Amino acid sequence: MITIKHDGCILCVGCSSVCPTNAIEVVGTRMEHFADKCIDCGLCVRVCPANVIEMYKGVKNHKELPAGAEVG
Ligand code: SF4
Ligand code: SF4
Repeated sequence: MITIKHDGCILCVGCSSVCPTNAIEVVGTRMEHFADKCIDCGLCVRVCPANVIEMYKGVKNHKELPAGAEVG
């Protein structure tokens, strides 16, 4: 799964556009990630112009994130 630092996100929706599984979408006024749909392809990380997406390969839900990881 990935996390998004929402403070730095400029809502360009580039991540959402490249995601092959629709695991990132605009919800209200921010991008939301749906970890259950994520296949850890890393495309969103590569296209993000604000560098606010972090990849946690193999992690399937927020409870498994390491301490200090941004939740988003
Ligand atoms: S890593 Fe791939 S599947 Fe997961 S959210 Fe990013 S683009 Fe979508
Ligand atoms: S690509 Fe980065 S800056 Fe653009 S909407 Fe996604 S997280 Fe935000």
